[in-house]
Amino acid sequence: MQYQSTRGSAPALGFEDVTLAGLASDGGLYLPTSWPAFTADQIRALSGLSYVETAVRVMTPFVAGSLTQEELRELCAAAYGRFSHQAVTPLVQLDHQHWVLELFHGPTLAFKDVALQLLGQLFERFLSRRDDHITIVGATSGDTGSAAIDAVAGRAKIDIFMLHPEGRVSDVQRRQMTTVLAPNVYNIAIDGSFDDAQALVKAMFNDVAFKSRFNLSAVNSINWARLMAQVVYYFYAAVRLGAPDRAVAFSVPTGNFGDVFAGYVAAQMGLPVDKLIVATNVNDILHRALAEGDYSQGQVVPTATPSMDIQVSSNFERLLFDAGGRDGLALADQMRGFEASKAMRLTNAQREGAAALFSSSRVDADGMTMAMRWAYDAAGQIIDPHSAIGLAAARTAGVDASIPVVTLATAHAAKFPDAVERATGTRPPLPSRVGDLFSREESYAKLPGTFEAITAYVAERATPRG
Ligand SMILES: *Cc1c(COP(=O)(O)O)cnc(C)c1O
Repeated sequence: MQYQSTRGSAPALGFEDVTLAGLASDGGLYLPTSWPAFTADQIRALSGLSYVETAVRVMTPFVAGSLTQEELRELCAAAYGRFSHQAVTPLVQLDHQHWVLELFHGPTLAFKDVALQLLGQLFERFLSRRDDHITIVGATSGDTGSAAIDAVAGRAKIDIFMLHPEGRVSDVQRRQMTTVLAPNVYNIAIDGSFDDAQALVKAMFNDVAFKSRFNLSAVNSINWARLMAQVVYYFYAAVRLGAPDRAVAFSVPTGNFGDVFAGYVAAQMGLPVDKLIVATNVNDILHRALAEGDYSQGQVVPTATPSMDIQVSSNFERLLFDAGGRDGLALADQMRGFEASKAMRLTNAQREGAAALFSSSRVDADGMTMAMRWAYDAAGQIIDPHSAIGLAAARTAGVDASIPVVTLATAHAAKFPDAVERATGTRPPLPSRVGDLFSREESYAKLPGTFEAITAYVAERATPRG
């Protein structure tokens, strides 16, 4: 399988190179040059398979040329063996039409584990083949940092430096990062905000000499391998609800458009997806883009769903490229315009291409609370605020009653106990496997938020190349 950039001028690469590169050299994002197609019989044959075996079947075409099916199976078994539920992503029924797909049974209780646990395995496999080393640097406001650290802790040939704004992540989130005491994990609390932390990381990547000396790498959601891993659970859920002989709709709480784009990929591969509901909080750039063609950046408003408090959705570029006719050079122009003016209009082709499959909805704090309450009262399920945004959108999307609607549950309720308690009156306890989080030893550095302080710290501890 070959991959091409959404901006038309980077070279086509195979899966291994795309995984290690992350971003394309022309600033674009990688996509397969064409979508692999599954016949109805191939989809039917997934029925009854385990999650790992489903993952192997769905991902085999994407890794062709870089991994054998047996190698892929080994990596999937290792990645998903660390989930606490036998089904990996179990499906829970709420009423006659609505289901919740629980994506939070991984080690850090957020759906990002599904992709990052596999990415950690892929990195280690490819780096040991090449006898190369990478230094991952990232900034986190919570979920991504802990999932990335857990995925690479203790792995040879990878060091990870994760910056978080001191005092501005929750205690659970901080401890999920700082109690991982592996020698290749470095947590840094910086004196500053999340935006400051992210700006420091950007500055490190922009320092070409520093970047190449330590072979800096990112694990953010622009990496194709992360999206690929997320395609699997769309198949897994839909087949359990009757695909390929019945269509299924999905509602997805969305920030960077990664998770819901994976649903689009599943549909391109032949999975009968009736509709993809893009659920945003009041940071609604994606809702405005899909409903009105207006992709313009607003101010980020902090909400009870911090992982969706985003005003630029990096993966949206992949949809604009594919749905808009795959003209990379034209899209590069359009994106340059957006980067300069922080606003753009979707083309007619992009709007029509997206309208075939997507609908969207903006859910405010009341809508979120009502959905949490409904799930609890009607079905005895405690869901987290992010999942509640998805469920609220699902229940108002007007999907035909004959079509099951699956809401993706992206975080465990125990990660957001205050908001959940306010809505339902019940405080969700941490699951027992992470229950000793508050008695574990923590280790992290506290540094001033300056480029000099951070780069000096990294340079002293990271492994230089060659
Ligand atoms: C990251 C995240 C999201 C948003 O996912 P995208 O792929 O960025 O759209 C939603 N909910 C939770 C809990 C998350 O951690």
